[in-house]
Amino acid sequence: MKKYDVLIIGAGIIGCSLAYELAKYDLEIAVLEKTSYVASGATKANSAMLHEGLSTKPGTLRAKFVKNSRKLLTEVMDKLHVPYKEGIGLITVAFNEQELELLKKQRDDALENGLDARILSKEETLKLEPNINSGIIGAFYSKSVSVIGPYELCIALAENASYNKTDFYFNEEVISVEKYQNRVIKVKTKQNEYQAKIYINAAGLYSDTVASFVEDIDFRIQPRKGEYFLYDKKYGSTVSHVISVLGNGKSKGMIVLPTIHGNLLAGSSAVSIDDKEDKGTTKETLDMIYQEAISKMIPSLSRTEGVITCFAGLRASEVNEDYIIGKAKTVKNFINVAGIQSPGLSSCIAIARYVIELCKQTQEVELWNIKNNYIAENPPYKRIVELNEDEANDLIRKNADYGEIICRCELVTKGEIIDAIHSIIPATSIDAIKRKLRCGMGRCQGGFCLERIIKIIHEETGIDMVEIRKDCVGSNYLIKPSKGGDKSHD
Ligand SMILES: Cc1cc2nc3c(=O)[nH]c(=O)nc-3n(C[C@H](O)[C@H](O)[C@H](O)COP(=O)(O)OP(=O)(O)OC[C@H]3O[C@@H](n4cnc5c(N)ncnc54)[C@H](O)[C@@H]3O)c2cc1C
Repeated sequence: MKKYDVLIIGAGIIGCSLAYELAKYDLEIAVLEKTSYVASGATKANSAMLHEGLSTKPGTLRAKFVKNSRKLLTEVMDKLHVPYKEGIGLITVAFNEQELELLKKQRDDALENGLDARILSKEETLKLEPNINSGIIGAFYSKSVSVIGPYELCIALAENASYNKTDFYFNEEVISVEKYQNRVIKVKTKQNEYQAKIYINAAGLYSDTVASFVEDIDFRIQPRKGEYFLYDKKYGSTVSHVISVLGNGKSKGMIVLPTIHGNLLAGSSAVSIDDKEDKGTTKETLDMIYQEAISKMIPSLSRTEGVITCFAGLRASEVNEDYIIGKAKTVKNFINVAGIQSPGLSSCIAIARYVIELCKQTQEVELWNIKNNYIAENPPYKRIVELNEDEANDLIRKNADYGEIICRCELVTKGEIIDAIHSIIPATSIDAIKRKLRCGMGRCQGGFCLERIIKIIHEETGIDMVEIRKDCVGSNYLIKPSKGGDKSHD
């Protein structure tokens, strides 16, 4: 059994940032992930905002790690060629004097935290965003908010770690640990056992469960659900900033924003729930979001027209509303990085660098030398649809698969899907292809491309078509007809 220096549990943005930062060192690193690909948890369903803590409580770990995150993360995104909308800015609107007073306080807090912020008059606001409700009386404005592609970033971090020799194991759910004296000596999944000198728990919503494999714990992760509307690209230019209404203390307030792909994202609610697997949306909550946020901010947006899907993400909030980052109490080589709710995306690199300092303090790994052959950048990557006509034609002449469109909505070709299947982190589930290339994220939501992608995965990997999954074990799309054939459609 290979023994790793560091083993990370969970391949969300935190696990992948850790892998990315750790892979700079001359160490053996592994990541275990229970689903089929990276970015399967909160990292795939969130507001995608990179901000420096406009509403994080001073003195908390959340406030500490988000400080200066914009510079830190944009440097990494530039190196890894991850697209983002830098500094598109946030406008929070006020409909009455009471709201305006709260926004003035928000401006003062932001200025105190070293962020740029000011109050806009109604006229100034409507000049910047003509589609905002003309019933506003003013707004808070800060330029220090960017919009990123959360799963693109997570994939790029993981791929870079992989170029730097990190081993990723998918469909591997950690279900127990084995300890000897005051150390964890191995973790077990249903199929395998893995050994390392240091273990890091970055299991998101399940970080309390994983921590409890090691010892009695005094924290609990309470999921807080956020539901969203996603509008078609036709509506993507309705606004050019992140527009928000005032929060209710538990969230920054609901937002409407243009995504990096040109869609319009609107949400989200913030409702505490018990079931960590409940990612369903409800009519009641979506109605509330539409009434209290979308139509209030942008009256021209419809409740249904242009909406291509609705979805939910679960915040891994600890009951004390702060991050739990630190060494386990009773063992010396197990570190928890738990309760990473918003702004976890923004803070991911700062958190990873801090956790590396904790790893060093364990003294379990002696040498922390930077790799000689460290690969700092990912190869630049352009989708076929982003190439100019000559570049695209050149490619198609060499390989006709780059001329065969499989996802009509997002214009993804067969050649790109084949490349993703054989890429450094192979995308061999439907959700993996979706996150890597956006197949199925457009207007038809996979209605046209799904069966074609299943066929391509089968042809390229030899995996039986009935074994090809949406994501986790048991999420197969196809079933084998029972003996004598399926008569149900006769
Ligand atoms: C609605 C919403 C809005 C948000 N908006 C923003 C925002 O605008 N800006 C911002 O900065 N942040 C935002 N966040 C927060 C951000 O998305 C999270 O902080 C971040 O994604 C957390 O990453 P993670 O890696 O800790 O968790 P996850 O992404 O959930 O990853 C954890 C991983 O661990 C895996 N796992 C779990 N158990 C096991 C096990 N036993 N064995 C192996 N693997 C396991 C899971 O499958 C998962 O892939 C938002 C979050 C939500 C939900």
